[in-house]
Amino acid sequence: MILHGPRAVPFLFLLGLLLGLALGCQSPSEEGTVDLVIRGGRVIDPASGLDAIRNVGITGDRIVAVTEGPLRGARTIEAEGRVVSPGFIDLHTHSPTPLGHYYQLADGVTTALELEAGSYPVARFAPEVAGAARIHFGASVGWASTRIEAIAGMSIESLLAGGSVPIEVFTRITDASERAQMRKMLENDLANGALGIGVPVDYFSEGTDEDELRMIFEVTAAADSLLYIHVRRGVNGDPAGLREALRLAKETGASIHVCHISHNAMRNIELFLREIREARANGVDVTTEVLPYNAGSALISSAVFSRNWQEVFAIDYADVEWAATGMRFDEATWREYRLKYPAGQVVHHYLKPEWTRRALVEPGVIVVSDLLRMVDEESRVAPHNGAFTRILGRHVREAGDLDLMTALSKMTSLPAQRLAKFFPSFENKGRVAVGADADLTIFNPATVIDRATYGAPFQTADGISTVIVAGEVALDEGRVLEDVFAGRRILNVAEGVLPPDSGENR
Ligand SMILES: [Zn+2]
Repeated sequence: MILHGPRAVPFLFLLGLLLGLALGCQSPSEEGTVDLVIRGGRVIDPASGLDAIRNVGITGDRIVAVTEGPLRGARTIEAEGRVVSPGFIDLHTHSPTPLGHYYQLADGVTTALELEAGSYPVARFAPEVAGAARIHFGASVGWASTRIEAIAGMSIESLLAGGSVPIEVFTRITDASERAQMRKMLENDLANGALGIGVPVDYFSEGTDEDELRMIFEVTAAADSLLYIHVRRGVNGDPAGLREALRLAKETGASIHVCHISHNAMRNIELFLREIREARANGVDVTTEVLPYNAGSALISSAVFSRNWQEVFAIDYADVEWAATGMRFDEATWREYRLKYPAGQVVHHYLKPEWTRRALVEPGVIVVSDLLRMVDEESRVAPHNGAFTRILGRHVREAGDLDLMTALSKMTSLPAQRLAKFFPSFENKGRVAVGADADLTIFNPATVIDRATYGAPFQTADGISTVIVAGEVALDEGRVLEDVFAGRRILNVAEGVLPPDSGENR
């Protein structure tokens, strides 16, 4: 079953809850005990607006009590002075690896989704954590993967194993039969559990014309699914890429989510946000997201810096940092380092903090990490493994950009509701309420902070005291528990149905 309209979700949530109570399953009686009690914490549930001291009872993988009264449990966690929040849901992360999940769990994330780039076929997504995941994970079907397969006959697995992609994958306009092939792959994977379609069109701008994009929007609309788009990047925040996506959504009826708005909008953030509001007023189902970082990062030799990068990003040498030391460049050092150290990482600071803040405070904008793939601690990555604690520590506590309830809504109820409209698995996520999934993040609001930096990204966040995933304590007293793997693969298929045998949606 596919749901339509925001009102359908709370209704079904309530219905499920009533059925659960009527059947007597997992509802604690006055004298009954639960598996786990979280005692005396400040429970914040943005979906209902609850912000009060409560005891929370968990049995199995469900929340069975949220009460002022006493609870008895097989185990009790004292949460006095702590905030008890729904576990954070990250719609945009590229690191379904043991290391990525480790650091995201330490950042309070209980569900990590690869939706922007996606994967194909989605049932085989994330082999490195399959069967042993610390947090829940899932993916969209990656249009880019289907394009690579249609043009070059290569699977994403062979690429990860070290294959290199022929340049035509990025630059060649596809023909009718390649498009038909892509369409079939996208449709099949949506039927087999994909959480929408990921469309990072910016990276394929030269080879992707509007007809190919329109085909993807039409497939999304026909399947009542959701499309995530990294719009084409224009010079210095040119809005043409955003306008193209909004127009196609309007014309096809596809629901869309625009990735990392401030990174595309740059100085035009006000304009981008306004155009999204106007599209919504005109009947387009569109949401967007922001990550709390003001830079991009890449190898100094990468293609990013072979084009007119100063114009595209509206920056100069001094805005680029050598990640290893923090040194800023001038023209001479830039030329020297590019020749001598092609594999060195640079960080290009092209966003002003006020642009990020502007996107963050806009109502409805969701918080994400855009964490890059973390394979081993030798790899150079950006510090996005601290995205959520960064919001809570720097933007809520230190700068006062947002109140705690609003900030938490952007990491819990808003992403859950956005997805629940299309994928029923999310109806019970993002809540601290009876009947909800027992994914919880408990933190100290006075100390919570990210510690990862561009120079030293492999540092866990501070101030997250306990994280519960599917009812199991996965992080305790600030430490990731090495042998707990309670995370589950999230596929949009009926319970008990294994893809690819089923084309059915629940
Ligand atoms: Zn992107």
